[in-house]
This record gives sequence, structure tokens and C-alpha cells, in this order.
Amino acid sequence: MSLGVVVIKLSELSQLERLPNSGAVDPRLLRDTEIGRTRAVLLPGMNARTVDGSDAREWFRERFNHVLAEISLGGESFAETLYGLLGPYHAIHRCPNPDCNATDLATPPPTTTGMCDQCGITLHTSDVLRIHEQFVEQQSSEECHARVMETLEILALANSLRHLAETDSGLDALRNTAFVMDGQLAAMGTIAVLARAMRDELRRIQCLLADAHPGAQIVVLSGVKSGPFVRHAEEIDRDPTPNRRIPPNRYWMPDNTYIRENIVPGQSSVSKPWGHVTHFGRPLVLKTPNGQRLVLNIAQPEVDPPLTDHPPPLSLGDAIATAAPLGVGTDQFLALRRAHRWASIPLKAGEDLIQSLLR
Ligand SMILES: [Zn+2]
Repeated sequence: MSLGVVVIKLSELSQLERLPNSGAVDPRLLRDTEIGRTRAVLLPGMNARTVDGSDAREWFRERFNHVLAEISLGGESFAETLYGLLGPYHAIHRCPNPDCNATDLATPPPTTTGMCDQCGITLHTSDVLRIHEQFVEQQSSEECHARVMETLEILALANSLRHLAETDSGLDALRNTAFVMDGQLAAMGTIAVLARAMRDELRRIQCLLADAHPGAQIVVLSGVKSGPFVRHAEEIDRDPTPNRRIPPNRYWMPDNTYIRENIVPGQSSVSKPWGHVTHFGRPLVLKTPNGQRLVLNIAQPEVDPPLTDHPPPLSLGDAIATAAPLGVGTDQFLALRRAHRWASIPLKAGEDLIQSLLR
């Protein structure tokens, strides 16, 4: 799998000529406004065996930890970012050895390993995410690899933000940069611990930014291409003419009551508010000035969850100004398309990309 990261200079993008029919930017001109990088990540499948005979799950754990320790978009490694996000007191809920019932084991700091007192198995920093619990031999590795990908995306965001928040020039760049992710601003399953950690981290960084530049907001958003919110927005926009009911230049942020009644019903009457456990952003439906409908998630570091019960985020204006010119077709987001393009090109390194923001 690979992680594509792209920096798009919006000021240059806005100068480019548009294609007459679609209103989209000519892709050939686009290349000059962006800098992209890819990180390729190799992880073993379920039936893999190492030469020394250790099992696939153990190899996966070791390999995943190694990957996090060796990649970075600037400053610290992804492993250090993970440890920084969860804090030194966040325990590994259950021993990674399926035959051992030890619980609440200390998470080893990056570059070190720990050991379970009960069974003696080696513990890694990344065990705290428990992705290996979905790594069951003879079964598809899809779920497991999806969690790895989501983890890499979230850590890429956190790694960049934390690096930029460290210096004056970085904070200056933060003020002028919107961060756009693929999919929802969410962490599901065993990695859901990252959702809360990201909400806390975004708030911490927002405070640092506001201290340096009063009134400035960090802008973190994502483009959602499928799922219940995309289907619901499509239905609402359908009558009487498909894709025409919501007028251009409008946005809509459904609140928790609306979401639970119309989009994602809770499992029971006492269900937690939507996104409480899993999300670090809230849904936004946007019709751009040229009529493209986008479903986005947007972070709101200034409030406590549930995010959907609050007035619109302070960064909403900046987020819409960023997203509107990047809408290149219903549910198609230019930034993500370009990142996917970069993800399909094998390149060696990505460390210098975030540095480019500092120039
Ligand atoms: Zn154990």
C-alpha cells in the first residue's frame, strides 16, 4: 500500500485556465502548481511466514511498528507521533499473544520494546492500536490493511501538524494551509482511540496557533466519496431534477438529531451521539458556486464532542473557500484525486514535502 501526499498552491491554481465544458482545471497545467510525494509500505499478508518460523501475526506487528518508526513527513517519526498523541500512560489493552490473558500492559516508547510479564512476548509501540487483533490466519487481510491505511493517513496529518506547530515559520505556514484528507475524519474499530486523541491534538495546536496569530484557525477537512451521507445528500438534491435542488453556494451541516433520525440510526435509544467515539470532524454538505455537490468532514477544535450539536466551526469560511475551487465533479475532490495520482507513482521519500510549506 502507499500513502500519497500532495501540496497544492491554491493561489497558483486560481490563475489557471478552466476547460470550457467541465470548468475543471487542465490537468497538464495543474502539475506545475503542486508538489507530491509517496511512501510505499510493505506489510505481510495472512499466510506469510518468516524464515525464522515466527508466525504471520507476529511478523505483521513487528513490520508495522518498524514502518511507523521509519517514516516521517517532518521532524519526529510516525511512531513518535502515535506515542505523543496517546500519551505515555495509554496502556495496551490486551496482550498481543492470543494465548495470554494479560491486560493493561505499558506501551513501550518508540525505539524501545517492552515485554509481557506473563508470557514474555515482545511488545511494540504500535501494539497500542490492536490492529493485529483483526489479523487472523487464513482470513482475508482486507480489514487489517484498511486500518493500517487509516492509521497512516491520520498519523500523516498529525505528524505534519505537530512539526509545523513547533516553529514560528511553521505556525505561519499552518495559518495559510488547509489540510485535506481522503474519506471521513474518523478512526473506526480498535484504532478509535485515535479519534479522541486527534480532537485533543487539534485543540492543542489550535491554541498554539491562536497564541502566535490571534484569530487564525487551523483548517482540517476531508472529502467523503461514499457512504450514508453521500447517499443522503444525493437523495435530497434529486427532486425535481437530479443534482439541481440544492442551489449553488449553499452549505448544510446536519445536527445529531437529524443524523440519527435520517442518515445513520443509532443501535439503540441510548446510543451515543453520532461520531462521539469515532470522529474528529463533522459532516458538511456543500454546493459549490459552479454547482458541484461535495460531502465533506470538517474539524472543529474549539468545541467538545458531540461536534454535531454546536454552531458551525470557526474555520467554516476558510474550509469552504478551500473546498469550492477543488470540487471537480459530484463527490470528486481535486486534492484527493491528485494525491491518488501521486500514490500510484513510486517515489523514494516524503520528508521534504512538509518542509516545502516553510519556504
Ligand atoms: Zn502476554
